[in-house]
Amino acid sequence: MQIGDFSRRSRADACPGALQVHAAADGGLARIRVPGGRLTASRLRELAGAAAGCGSGVIELTSRANVQVRGLGDGAQAGFAARMAAAGLLPSLTHERVRNILASPLTGCDARGTLDAGPLVDELDRRLCARPGLAGLPGRFLFALDDGRGDVAWLGPDAGILPTGADEAALILAGADSGLRVPVGSAVTALLAAAEAFLAEPAAEGGRAWRIGELPGGAERVAARVRAALAHSAGGVRSPAAERLRGEPSAAGREPVGVIELPGGRVALGVAVPLGRLAAAQAELLADLAAGGEVRLTPWRGVVLSGLDRAEATRSAALLTAAGLVTDPASPWIGVTACAGRPGCARSLADVRADAARSVPPSPERFTSPGGRTAVPGGASGSGDRGRGEPPGAGGPGAAPGVAGSPRPGTLPVHWAGCERRCGRPGGRVAEVVATAGGYHVALDGRGLDCAGIEETTAAVTALRREM
Ligand code: SF4
Repeated sequence: MQIGDFSRRSRADACPGALQVHAAADGGLARIRVPGGRLTASRLRELAGAAAGCGSGVIELTSRANVQVRGLGDGAQAGFAARMAAAGLLPSLTHERVRNILASPLTGCDARGTLDAGPLVDELDRRLCARPGLAGLPGRFLFALDDGRGDVAWLGPDAGILPTGADEAALILAGADSGLRVPVGSAVTALLAAAEAFLAEPAAEGGRAWRIGELPGGAERVAARVRAALAHSAGGVRSPAAERLRGEPSAAGREPVGVIELPGGRVALGVAVPLGRLAAAQAELLADLAAGGEVRLTPWRGVVLSGLDRAEATRSAALLTAAGLVTDPASPWIGVTACAGRPGCARSLADVRADAARSVPPSPERFTSPGGRTAVPGGASGSGDRGRGEPPGAGGPGAAPGVAGSPRPGTLPVHWAGCERRCGRPGGRVAEVVATAGGYHVALDGRGLDCAGIEETTAAVTALRREM
């Protein structure tokens, strides 16, 4: 969507929720908001049960760390919503679609953040739902609470904060530094002021603009309204003397996969979920392995288990790998995403998920760096030793899980789409694989290649990823 293009829209945003179910080609699609991506194990179990009992049996993870369930029949939709409400996953009937709140997935677990964003997530969610006017926000409006490591501030939120020190945070608007600084204690007040400032814009009020970035000069106009709104509040708002922050993903803005060291000798385990599709049985397993009774969903459509000891992490990685999930940071599954495609979307020209899965090399062919060394768990090198047909991921049952942050050659993000809309395309540099009448068009950095079939497409994608 280009700036100003919203003027052609004839309808308000129709993002699905638990109550406002989208009629997809494969049945009803319900989306459940999970502020901060934080799910208790019991809620994850209930989601798994409801997905299996009312829908397709798969929980889809979204790029906003929310979840969705497809295949809900007409008679099952009310029952699904009732189960979500009973599980505490639908705390506001009026605001359910506007609780889109990203947070650094590892906040409060490791020592890399300036602050723990968890309490800010709770405060923002509570105060957002308490303001009747904010129920009118479009379902696409996105908040982000970055704990200072820079992993979610640059994922294109409409309104976000990024701490610049222990007491001060930059206000991010439309995915870029607005230049405004607020005390950390006023961060939620500033985010709510930004949401209200957006709604005060005539195009947003009419329901035609869904994101701040769609409005010509939107970020500047919202910043001016926020400055005026907070002028007399505690702490106020000020412009920084220093340069604006650069809007680029930092090294921390990568999908956490593998073992992550935590203070006190505990570890977390980052788990990638192939194509963001979590079968009910996999969700049950994650809930069983959640040592602290909580799982955290990531905006990279993965999951983090925290508070494990090393033995638990090794055992968990083996079980998860055997179940088809990925704990190896060098797995070629890392960075592969796809839209719904056929049969879920009537616009799709192909079953892009099946084709994307077919394009991922089996585990022995894990990508190698230009020097020919394969990234393996623990940062050592090797050649891989497992046979074809094993579950996605690497290491195999009993192997030590990989260490997050190890070099990951060959994991250039690739997004498969069933049509030119490219739904779900991640931000940043991504190879696009878009279905055409005769096959796929593979494109990167403005250069493209038409491929006739899945074999030719796979070869083109593999070559691109090996080079990058
Ligand atoms: S990109 Fe096209 S085919 Fe894929 S989900 Fe969006 S509209 Fe459907």
